[in-house]
Amino acid sequence: MLAVTFLGTSAARPTVERNVSALALVREGETLLFECGEGTQRQMLRYGVSFALSEIFFTHFHADHFLGVIGLIRTLGLQGREEAMQLFGPHGAKKLLGQALQLGVERVPFPVDIVEVHPGMVLRETRDGQRATYQIHVFATEHGGGSVGYALREHERPGRFDPEKARAAGVPEGPLWGKLQRGETVGLADGRTVTPEGIVGPRRPGRLVVFTGDTRPCAAVVDAAQGADLLIHEATFGEEEKDRARETGHSTAREAAQVALAANAKRLVLSHVSARYSISAEELVKEAREVFRETTVAKDGMTVQVPYPD
Ligand SMILES: [Zn+2]
Ligand SMILES: [Zn+2]
Repeated sequence: MLAVTFLGTSAARPTVERNVSALALVREGETLLFECGEGTQRQMLRYGVSFALSEIFFTHFHADHFLGVIGLIRTLGLQGREEAMQLFGPHGAKKLLGQALQLGVERVPFPVDIVEVHPGMVLRETRDGQRATYQIHVFATEHGGGSVGYALREHERPGRFDPEKARAAGVPEGPLWGKLQRGETVGLADGRTVTPEGIVGPRRPGRLVVFTGDTRPCAAVVDAAQGADLLIHEATFGEEEKDRARETGHSTAREAAQVALAANAKRLVLSHVSARYSISAEELVKEAREVFRETTVAKDGMTVQVPYPD
């Protein structure tokens, strides 16, 4: 199972309806947090997101994307956490997050490791050597100050195993089936050998979930999001404020849709909306759908499931 829960969907400042940026990605029981705006820990409690996470990814260091880490780390310390935590962010992460962690606490009672990332980097392993079945790719975004986005890309899965064809080929159910499924040729008791061709289908793609953080529409995002099962793109403004979007390093809903279309993404969710769309962001959805039909807009507490395509 792979699902994304939006914890904060408002740009720049919280509103009554929406908190500032944060997003939890839950995959096979593991929780990853992307951004941690002020108040994120309370949103996690409210929407049932586990505090048992070991990695937080930051796209840039505007206040609405990271101030919540101060309180969250403090709470985890009070809960007696001992496990290490890794914080990932672009250039400046060590200084800024390092300072944030020292605010209001004598010392954090568990190890916190701050990792500076750059576009092109692939985060392959977690601290304990997990993450065997996916990678996180770091890509450039256009928001000034070396901002980045993150793409979670699952490895390919084995092809589909056809038990009928295995039986027809005379392969008895049992360990030999597992070998075939892993792509190995097997030897039978009667001396024949059987290859997986025709019994195991072609390898199947994993899922791709892409999170842009704040950005202008740009080619690097289009590249990172090629064929994405889910593209989460900021859409701070509507068309009537497209000049303001350009001046402030943000995107309009329509621009986000153009990126989704160019990337041939399957689904687009807009987030990081300006306070004026806090109550209703339908205008943004309407503008985006004229370009890319499979568009929705996030709201706080919304969970999006990302199924396998087949
Ligand atoms: Zn922002
Ligand atoms: Zn920003």
